[in-house]
Amino acid sequence: MPPRPRCSAIADRLILALCLAAWGSACAPEATAPESTLTAFVGATLVDGTGGPSRPDAVVLVEGERIVAVGSRGAVDVPGDATVVDVSGRWLVPGLIDAHVHFFESGRIYTKPGQIDLTHLVPYPDEVAWMKQRVPATLRAYLCAGVTTAVSVGGPRFEYEVRSAAQSIAAAPNVVVGHGPLTLVPAEVLFPPFDGDVSVRSVTDTESARTTVREAVAWGADLIKTGVLGGPFAAYEADYAAVHDAVVEAARVEGLRVTAHVTELEAARTLIEAGVDSLQHLPLDALVDEAFLRLAAERGVIVVPTLAVGPRNFVQPYDRSYDLLPIEEICGDPQVIASWYEVDDLPPLGGGFAELFAAGDGVPQQNIRRLHEAGIPLAAGSDAGNFGLLHGASLHYELDRMQAAGIPAADLLVAATLHAARVGGVGAEVGSVEVEKRADLLILDADPLEDVSALQAIHRVVKSGRVFERDELLPTR
Ligand SMILES: [Zn+2]
Repeated sequence: MPPRPRCSAIADRLILALCLAAWGSACAPEATAPESTLTAFVGATLVDGTGGPSRPDAVVLVEGERIVAVGSRGAVDVPGDATVVDVSGRWLVPGLIDAHVHFFESGRIYTKPGQIDLTHLVPYPDEVAWMKQRVPATLRAYLCAGVTTAVSVGGPRFEYEVRSAAQSIAAAPNVVVGHGPLTLVPAEVLFPPFDGDVSVRSVTDTESARTTVREAVAWGADLIKTGVLGGPFAAYEADYAAVHDAVVEAARVEGLRVTAHVTELEAARTLIEAGVDSLQHLPLDALVDEAFLRLAAERGVIVVPTLAVGPRNFVQPYDRSYDLLPIEEICGDPQVIASWYEVDDLPPLGGGFAELFAAGDGVPQQNIRRLHEAGIPLAAGSDAGNFGLLHGASLHYELDRMQAAGIPAADLLVAATLHAARVGGVGAEVGSVEVEKRADLLILDADPLEDVSALQAIHRVVKSGRVFERDELLPTR
């Protein structure tokens, strides 16, 4: 778990015991490489995730789960007892980070009854049971796709259970849990209770906003998630600006960063003014204006555009026009993909979503370009778990959509590594290939600065210093 050092062997043993009880042999006492192991990755072109120039013929020395030296061949002293891995002719980049996932959604067509109600086919408790027993496979799917950290941005207590599992399962990403209240939306609108717990917390006053942040801290949140869901924002009379101010203030007292769901321009402005650190999604109702761009730049806000969720969740399930990338076919959970074809004749969604999210140069694409041109940092987030979006591999679809909107490959690599780490508040721990950071690395067969699809050409995945062959990470049928 990146944000907090593992302080107690007893706590570690407890987490492992809980993991073993729920998922059996998938849980391993040694989720990371032994501390004394030295491994030198030698000869690759290093693209370190900071946005700086690439470095040919690099050496990255890893001890246990940490990077201990980075430099050119000859400049880094490789001890005689180190295992040398020759990666000449390849590229070495940080493990990818998805800045927007939900583990309480499986990606199956049955997972979001508020949008498509198929509970007559699969009752929601059955869907919940499916997700729970599938946790090890879901986590492995992230590593298969090269995603070594996933930021959960909201859900029930289950998100914390998945984080605990990830700490005990070797083939699993780091999991960062965001938690907190959204305004405007009644909690029961989108999701029935998940094991008796609410999935979307809703508040309308400042006191319950503070209470929800304190609850999140008590549960062990790494990040506070807030936002506005269910606009139009301007039509509501309650003082939502004050509610968001209270959320941010309470988070600051706890030393936590705040990320916010928003799809409306005026609500986004209010949230930035309240002091949130990042926005999830984009304003979709209007083009961002100069004043907005200036405000976002002044406040240093990171934007997670989530372009993939539009076509994948709001368009493709309804006409089955899924356009899976090769890595989605390889690493996606086959049971999840199969579910998309199990139900005929979904009623059309309506509401203008198909038009809004049509391929081409609409408001989402123009807004992401405006933000990028204004120098606003972008981070990659897939919204995986929504049906149509595969845990793990859908981050590549997000990057594909961002590239199609005009964002250069070099900036996309930073968006999917260091910027995404900062959204999760773990930028000091992961997100770049630098000394003292966790050794979460990808070895690639293609140049990621040429085209973002090179991030799909994964030769090896290194997670917390442990090297995985691609075959070890493929889904079981
Ligand atoms: Zn989401």
